[in-house]
Amino acid sequence: MIFCNDMFEVVAKVTKELWPDMPWPYIFWADARYLGGMYGQFRKSSIYISTSLSIKSAVIILIHELAHTVNCYLKDLDTEVIDSEVHGSEWQDCFDKINEKYEEAKCMNDLEYL
Ligand SMILES: [Zn+2]
Repeated sequence: MIFCNDMFEVVAKVTKELWPDMPWPYIFWADARYLGGMYGQFRKSSIYISTSLSIKSAVIILIHELAHTVNCYLKDLDTEVIDSEVHGSEWQDCFDKINEKYEEAKCMNDLEYL
């Protein structure tokens, strides 16, 4: 089975276009009970997304967590310090870049883009 317009693949493709040299994190679907009530979590090399989310919400959470991993990559950190700056301007810039390219790409002819 092949999904021809997989939104998660579109997010991956646009992120790779933006930061082609970034090591790609492993992405796991995780039961909500393992995420402590959160919708997603990240490490430098892995992202966890709750299986309790709708597909649309899971795409946004994937972009959210990817912005964290990109921010770690750009700052050469193993993980971001969780403080008031964790969703600061640098993270927001990464999120906006991925989200804008995703919004453009998902409107393109799927077969042309993939
Ligand atoms: Zn976050």
